[in-house]
Amino acid sequence: AGLLAGRIALITGAGSGIGRAVCQVFAREGAAIAAVDLNKDAANTTVQGLTNTSGISHQSFCADVSASGSVSDLIQNVRSAFNGLPTVAVNSAGITQDGFMLKMSEEKFDKVIAVNLKGTFLVNQALCRALVSENVRNASIVNISSISGKAGNLGQANYAASKAGVIGLTKTAAIELAKQGIRVNAVLPGFTVTPMTDAVPDKVKQMVTMLIPMGRMGQPEEIAEACLFLASDRSSYITGVALEVAGGLYA
Ligand code: NAD
Repeated sequence: AGLLAGRIALITGAGSGIGRAVCQVFAREGAAIAAVDLNKDAANTTVQGLTNTSGISHQSFCADVSASGSVSDLIQNVRSAFNGLPTVAVNSAGITQDGFMLKMSEEKFDKVIAVNLKGTFLVNQALCRALVSENVRNASIVNISSISGKAGNLGQANYAASKAGVIGLTKTAAIELAKQGIRVNAVLPGFTVTPMTDAVPDKVKQMVTMLIPMGRMGQPEEIAEACLFLASDRSSYITGVALEVAGGLYA
């Protein structure tokens, strides 16, 4: 049996990149996967590619994490589809809309905060409300922040602020929910090979890579393995941490 045998795992941003890799690693470890994305086709593709070691079918769900109604529907839909609440969750849904701060529109700022920060808040809140009201204990939530949230990043005032916000949210949720048996931790990926970073020009990639002590970008699977540790009982006494998975960048 794997590290997540018998667990229902809710993964947002499951249609791409890090979220998809988390689905693959968690399915390998025996979890039943609720793969959530704004892009339903992408979430479907993720589910079709998963191995099934739990005996329970993985399922895809369409939801917009930045809309509270969509999120509360999601938790109820997942609950009825699996006949139980998820006790593992990874919040990987996220976007970038880069631009220098002096030129950044209010719309770009609000949009990135709405998805990355408020979206993470809404999923944490809705899931924890359900877990507490049904007195389900031993749950673990992993919120995907970013090394940009620790160090800042050129052209990412909105994104870095959202990701720093995710750290504050995570630490507060960890304190408030510890006695309910819910752990909440953050993972801070560095520069990772996904569709999000595909658009970055090669020149910029080379410059950033030179700053990384390990001398290369990260793979989404390497982020997913860190999420697995925090999601599983292997980290049973860890809550409220911000775990950097960044090849030494800005450590
Ligand atoms: P990605 O673009 O490959 O995947 C993000 C997924 O989130 C997409 O499938 C997208 O459809 C989904 N999504 C976007 N808005 C949504 C919404 N409102 N509701 C539901 N789903 C939504 O990106 P990725 O690189 O896999 O990033 C995953 C997470 O990791 C993000 O939070 C990102 O900020 C963070 N991160 C990525 C890197 C990196 O270098 N790739 C570094 C640090 C942190």
